Order: sequence, then C-alpha cells, then structure tokens
Amino acid sequence: MTQRLPALFLGHGSPMTVISDVPERRGMEALGRALPRSQAILVISAHWETHGASHVTEGAHPRTIHDFRGFPDELYAIQYPAPGSPELASRVEELLGTGRVLRDDSWGFDHGAWGVARPMFPDAHIPMVEMSLDRNLTMAQHLALGAALAPLRDEGVLIVGSGNVVHNLALYGQSRGTRPIWADEFRTRINRAVTENDHAALTLFAQDDDAARKAINSAEHYLPLLYAVGARLPGDEVALFNDTLDGALSMTSVLIGDAGLVGA
Ligand code: ZN
Repeated sequence: MTQRLPALFLGHGSPMTVISDVPERRGMEALGRALPRSQAILVISAHWETHGASHVTEGAHPRTIHDFRGFPDELYAIQYPAPGSPELASRVEELLGTGRVLRDDSWGFDHGAWGVARPMFPDAHIPMVEMSLDRNLTMAQHLALGAALAPLRDEGVLIVGSGNVVHNLALYGQSRGTRPIWADEFRTRINRAVTENDHAALTLFAQDDDAARKAINSAEHYLPLLYAVGARLPGDEVALFNDTLDGALSMTSVLIGDAGLVGA
C-alpha cells in the first residue's frame, strides 16, 4: 500500500521568491526534502481561472508559462519541464465527475505551479497536472472538490493548493514593510479556522467583514487553500509554516497530514 501523502497549501507570493534566498523559499525546499516520495503532483493554482468546469492540463509535456510582467530576465528564463500525467488527469475527472472537468491543452504550468514545485522538486522529475479554479463555484463547492480529491492522497499523489491567504495587490504597494491590523486579524482567524477545521469560518464571510474584503478582495489566491483543507482526512494533523506577513501579502502555508514533516 502506498504511503498516504499530505495535502498542502503553499503561499507563493511574488515570482521573485523562486530566485531569492528568502526564508519562505528555504521552507519549501526543506519540505520538499522531507516529503515522502510522490508519484505525481496535482497543483491547484491561483493563476488559472475558468468558468463552468475545472480545467486540467492534459499534455504529456505542459509548457512553462511566465504569467507576470516587469520582472528580471532570470525569471523568464526558468523552465519547469516536469512531465504531464494524462493518467492523473483521467483520475481527477473520475473523482470529480465527467462534465465537471475539462481537459485543456491550451494551458501549461503557470508560476502558481512552478513557483512552488521548483523549490520543492528542482529536478522536475515528478509528473504534474495543474488544475484551474472554476470561478462559477461557491467557496463551499471548492471545499467539496478538495474532499472529492482526497483519495488521491492514498494513490501517491501530492495535492498542492498554491495561492496566498492575504493577497491584495492594490494595497500592497502602500502597505509593504508594515503589518496592517486587518491583515494580521485575517491571517490569525484563518489559521485558527484551518487548525480547527472550521468550514463555516473558511467559506462564509459577512458583507461587512472589512478584513476579509481587503484580504481576499478577488479571492483567487485564497481559494486554493480550500482544496487542501477539503482533502483533510480523519487522523490528520495540521502544521502551519512560512507564516509571514508583509503588508497586504501573507505567505502562510499549511500541511495537512503528518505535522512532523514541517521543520523536520
Ligand atoms: Zn500569485
């Protein structure tokens, strides 16, 4: 029997994280070394939004996408040549239901995917499938998709949500280098909800919830968290790491499974 793998949510932040010697990158590198061997990776990226279905990359050799502007040439030169996995794409379709999933050869690995996969697995040997966020779904429905994908954890597949819990680029410039009260409040609240597996606190936000409105104004960076939380199974522990906040951007990352893998 294959060893059960954890489900991860990784804060990816700026593309610069990939080429900078920062604690968050080192945290991902250490986790990559500690993780049991996986046969494939399913990464749900904040940077691929679709409507009406969850799209999955289907090619045998998905391209590397540089979906950012104004960064150093070094970043555009990065390739992440992990093979695709048509088998995993089929299995995702089976688990989520035909019609819920669309195989898509137009996309590849965007920086939400390779920005976290490269620090953990620099060799790019593990086959990877990227999955989009279907923006027609409610937060509770994203969480339910995570639960439907949980069996993959016993099939050698590492489930990785890639985004950021606090992510507001409109406020980032003015808040950089500070620790806004609203951002810290939201970070603390979500950390507690993840640890306590409080689904309501993770998916229902009141209209007048000022911190939530600012932290997840467009939500695409928050939604991948719900896949990791949704994939939680009985007996799992929760470990938080890279739990840093810089203005309107947090790098908080979550491991669901064997907490000993973090900081090992
Ligand atoms: Zn991003």
